[in-house]
Amino acid sequence: MASKRVLVTGGAGFIGSHLCERLLDEGHDVLCMDNLFTGQRRNIEHLLGHERFEFERHDVNEPFVVEADRIFHLACPASPVHYQRNPVRTVRTCVQGTMHALEAAREVGARLFIASTSEVYGDPAVHPQTEDYWGHVNPIGVRACYDEGKRCAEALAISYATQYGVQVRIARIFNTYGPRMHENDGRVVSNFIVQALRGEPLTLYGDGRQTRSFCYVDDLVEAAVRFMEADTDATPMNLGNPQESTIERIARAIKDLSNSRSETVLRPLPQDDPTRRCPDISRAGELLGWEPKTGLEEGLLRTIEDFARRLSLPEGALDTHDELEGMPHAGV
Ligand code: NAD
Ligand code: UDP
Repeated sequence: MASKRVLVTGGAGFIGSHLCERLLDEGHDVLCMDNLFTGQRRNIEHLLGHERFEFERHDVNEPFVVEADRIFHLACPASPVHYQRNPVRTVRTCVQGTMHALEAAREVGARLFIASTSEVYGDPAVHPQTEDYWGHVNPIGVRACYDEGKRCAEALAISYATQYGVQVRIARIFNTYGPRMHENDGRVVSNFIVQALRGEPLTLYGDGRQTRSFCYVDDLVEAAVRFMEADTDATPMNLGNPQESTIERIARAIKDLSNSRSETVLRPLPQDDPTRRCPDISRAGELLGWEPKTGLEEGLLRTIEDFARRLSLPEGALDTHDELEGMPHAGV
């Protein structure tokens, strides 16, 4: 796309920081807005001196106005451990935060990309998941604050599109991993890598036969950038890697790739943990000409290298939000 003013909410987070980098590389002016709840200043430190990059510490639950042509709205805790920590705030961020992003887009006529999630499908009865599947979500379970919050965010986006003509792009993002994932976020890839590198047991929840499909962050960012510029209407789009793996296989791969001697220990499966998840990405293939390029081994290796570098940092160098201090990396 021609050079534009782009706002990235949640830009100091895992996916957001990679997206900011990519947008700067393409010549855009990037404003990163983040309250550093689960994001880290260190993720964007290398961008702070860039002449086309700005950082604003702001909570999207408060209204905001920006001069922007494009808004990527990513601000929201994403890992189950983080979003279940303060469920009321999670609902608020999904709903009120998204409404503020939509209002900001409406005010200046910007196009808005919404980071929705495969969690809108819940524990799916249809496999692989296509965009026209309505999902199977427990509205009062431990994941509801996020799942239902994101479903409401989608409803808001569609409503702003039909009622006010705001151009929205709803991306249903499936499990994404890569460098800069938060060490303490409790997600499976970060947990297993930290445990493997420290020689601690890998905590396998349930029997490890549940599945997920993992997308490397560079592939996801490529899809997000293409989707933003695609000439399409407001229908949602699955973005993810359709290569499905059991969690037990992920544990083995991470142990092997990091040459770890860690054992695997079984832990109870968290409530409402989806049994399988795999995106049908035909729509993204047709409309964006996109498919993921990074294989699981290659992506995991790059991620393991990044964690190995970070874990050898002196204590205190990992800056986290106060509220996340002391959270276990072993998850729920
Ligand atoms: P992340 O936690 O690393 O990033 C989220 C960012 O949003 C953080 O920098 C955090 O500080 C910021 N944030 C949270 N609440 C905020 C608020 N109220 N105001 C301003 N900033 C706020 O997570 P991520 O994995 O990078 O996820 C980014 C987005 O993608 C999220 O919306 C998430 O729901 C979505 N998503 C991610 C995945 C995945 O596998 N990583 C899968 C599906 C959807
Ligand atoms: N999981 C696991 N051990 C861990 C963390 C997670 O076995 O230390 C499992 C978890 O129960 C789920 C899968 O890995 O079945 C993916 O979990 P994650 O929290 O990464 O993402 P989500 O459940 O939101 O897809």
